[in-house]
Amino acid sequence: MVSLRGVDKHFGDLHVLQNIDLDVAEREVVVVVGPSGSGKSTLCRSINRLETIDSGEIRVDGELLPAEGAPLAKLRAEVGMVFQSFNLFAHRTILDNVTLAPLKVRKLGKEAAKAQAMELLDRVGIADKADSHPAQLSGGQQQRAAIARALAMQPKVMLFDEPTSALDPEMVGEVLDVMTSLASEGMTMIVVTHEMGFARRAADRVVFMDRGQIVEQAPPAQFFDSPATARAQSFLASVL
Ligand code: ATP
Ligand code: MG
Repeated sequence: MVSLRGVDKHFGDLHVLQNIDLDVAEREVVVVVGPSGSGKSTLCRSINRLETIDSGEIRVDGELLPAEGAPLAKLRAEVGMVFQSFNLFAHRTILDNVTLAPLKVRKLGKEAAKAQAMELLDRVGIADKADSHPAQLSGGQQQRAAIARALAMQPKVMLFDEPTSALDPEMVGEVLDVMTSLASEGMTMIVVTHEMGFARRAADRVVFMDRGQIVEQAPPAQFFDSPATARAQSFLASVL
């Protein structure tokens, strides 16, 4: 569903992605872990073309990433992204936040967009907040609204970049629960997170990045219980 071949990216002298090869199959859940600055966010942002790469190839569902215009808008719809900060439109209701893009980009009718949004809000447990504004919601509720908004575009793959890092601890669980059920429903997901419990539970594969490289990848039990490289061992020692 997502494939990267020989992807390189520099920021000035900094080689932030170094010859990255990665394949994520349909329905697969890949959790990306690694130290701060290792290139995890840049990797995610490149898949959505929020960053352009210097060389190599990225394909989503077999198609090379389009450079601009309508094809790029279509790609962005197909690749849902949820960030650490929720990025909801502050002056719109939660319902509007979820229906705006489907109305505009998918050209859904008003009633259909609303019905779909209410179903999604129900699925993430905040249907009662449809008419509220983002500021009236807790952080966990806002992040669940952001997930519903991404899902409203019927993405082929969902990217999560530290979706729980900005949340108070008591709200982390409710967001991870939504992500866990998405994973079990077969959504293709790439998740950058420090939540190792989630990785163990929900990941099909853990990808460990360090200094712009994929150093190691393995099923979670294998990665956590017997990491193959010294770099992964010392990373795990620092986070577990
Ligand atoms: P964290 O765990 O702290 O979120 P990360 O693994 O997501 O880290 P990236 O954000 O991908 O790391 O950053 C990789 C490297 O690229 C870092 O050294 C960072 O400082 C640098 N970098 C990221 N974005 C830019 C930018 N727009 N301009 C210059 N350097 C950047
Ligand atoms: Mg990051």
